[in-house]
Amino acid sequence: MPESFDADIFVIGGGINGVGIARDAAGRGFSVTLCEQNDLASGTSSASTKLVHGGLRYLEHYEFKLVRAALSEREVLMASAPHIISPLRFVLPHSPGVRPGWLIRLGLFLYDHLGKREKLPGSGNIKLTESDVGASLNPNLRTASCYSDCWVDDSRLVVLNAQDAASCGAKILTRTTCTSACVRENDRGWRVRVRDTATGAERELSAKVIVNAAGPWAESCLSGVVQDARVTSMRLVRGSHIVVPQMFGHDSAYIFQNPDRRIVFAIPYEGDYTMIGTTDEDFSGDLGNVSPSHKEIDYLCATANRFFKRQISSEDIVWQFAGVRPLLADGAGSAKEVTRDYRLDVQNVGRGAVLLSVLGGKITTYRKLAEQAVDQLVQLCGREEGPWTATASLPGGDIPAGDLDAFTEEKKRAYEWLPSSVVERYARSYGSEIDKVIGPAESVDDMGIDFGSGLYEHEVQYLIDFEWAANAEDILWRRTKLGVAGGEALVQNLSDWFDSGASAPGISVSASGAGV
Ligand code: FAD
Repeated sequence: MPESFDADIFVIGGGINGVGIARDAAGRGFSVTLCEQNDLASGTSSASTKLVHGGLRYLEHYEFKLVRAALSEREVLMASAPHIISPLRFVLPHSPGVRPGWLIRLGLFLYDHLGKREKLPGSGNIKLTESDVGASLNPNLRTASCYSDCWVDDSRLVVLNAQDAASCGAKILTRTTCTSACVRENDRGWRVRVRDTATGAERELSAKVIVNAAGPWAESCLSGVVQDARVTSMRLVRGSHIVVPQMFGHDSAYIFQNPDRRIVFAIPYEGDYTMIGTTDEDFSGDLGNVSPSHKEIDYLCATANRFFKRQISSEDIVWQFAGVRPLLADGAGSAKEVTRDYRLDVQNVGRGAVLLSVLGGKITTYRKLAEQAVDQLVQLCGREEGPWTATASLPGGDIPAGDLDAFTEEKKRAYEWLPSSVVERYARSYGSEIDKVIGPAESVDDMGIDFGSGLYEHEVQYLIDFEWAANAEDILWRRTKLGVAGGEALVQNLSDWFDSGASAPGISVSASGAGV
């Protein structure tokens, strides 16, 4: 590239697709700047069902290519981050009025064989009347199928990709909105304007390529932010989840078939809870303010009550959240039938300015999507660097043999002065970075203020210094999920601490926002 730019690639959006592309591109030697208007993963990428999965139900819509790609990604992602991605067994009770047994058997046969699978066990059958997993279910349910996929801490996956991008040289600007981008008049490439959302300060940057990874905002970003762009159409579909006190005492999850043919998951959540979701509702409201409707909450409670012995109501809900799926408008009738596949839309806008828009996608396919996006940019820019992320660890993911249990036991011995539940949580949140979180501390007193629910000042400071956390919400709902267990008291304690100004970033913080 003969011209000089502030960045080769400017990424709009700090959700999973934006950070995935930033990481891949920075690792191939591009200079990259990413801006996120709020916190990392504050959009759809923290509101998912948290599954790395092939998507059993997509087989009904003949999405074999998508399912094959997604199935194969499960073990690739698990190997890259075994601390935040782990195998999860699913129990699918048979509801003959909804789908016949032969269809389920055929679906699971394809699921077992379509994609690459070495570690995850294959599918099987269960007599619910004779199994632990049947104990909490409605006794009318007598048989079930079972199969494996993976669970992922979605918002931590985003942060780890941002950390890895930064360690490859990318600048990660959180709480920074891209307000406009236009082709430069007297030079080549883009002129991009960004605004610091806290101070309102604006500045300009130049870049050769813009990546529009604004998720559900991608279409409005094309029409409102990026001039000269061709606007494409997306379909926005809200999905909601509820979290209730534990409905069952084992570590498998359920996938229930509703009479409307939708499926709803019930998944173990943070030890003491069960997460139930999701829904598919066309959405046209304010993307900055998305929450479950009464109708969705009633639907999820009614689903739980159809399948579990214990009956719940909205009174039992300890947390609820909703996100908006940025889907490709494919002309499907109902929202649940819209494809979950993605498209990378590349435009040469003129004067050497390239715009790549990400439309659609899933957390499961983010790495592959990023690889394909950067492959295209490498080609367009006349470069040669090849893909690298399929075999690379994410920060904290280099756990010996990927054995999180053995790693956790070793760390419990090393930090026997810390409550074992805290060490366990650190191991599954930070993996091999655990020593950095604990730092030089040698006793619980050395960990600083105890905010409650196992949250100490040391961890909070680590999240500020190395993970771009800026307030209690970032820490309690995205970097950790302690907001549910800690309740209002923890929120208040931590918010007071931030308000007191005690949270000034440590000396390790760099100009790009976090000291990684
Ligand atoms: P986002 O995460 O929304 O990121 C876009 C970011 O761009 C936002 O953070 C936003 O603040 C930022 N932004 C927008 N405009 C600007 C601007 N002008 N300047 C700066 N920043 C800007 N996938 C799975 O694989 N497994 C699942 O189990 C799963 N479950 C799901 C359940 C639900 C209910 C939903 C809604 C989705 C689910 N998905 C799942 C899909 C997956 O969550 C999404 O495909 C994915 O998170 C989209 O990521 P993204 O980066 O494209 O968008």
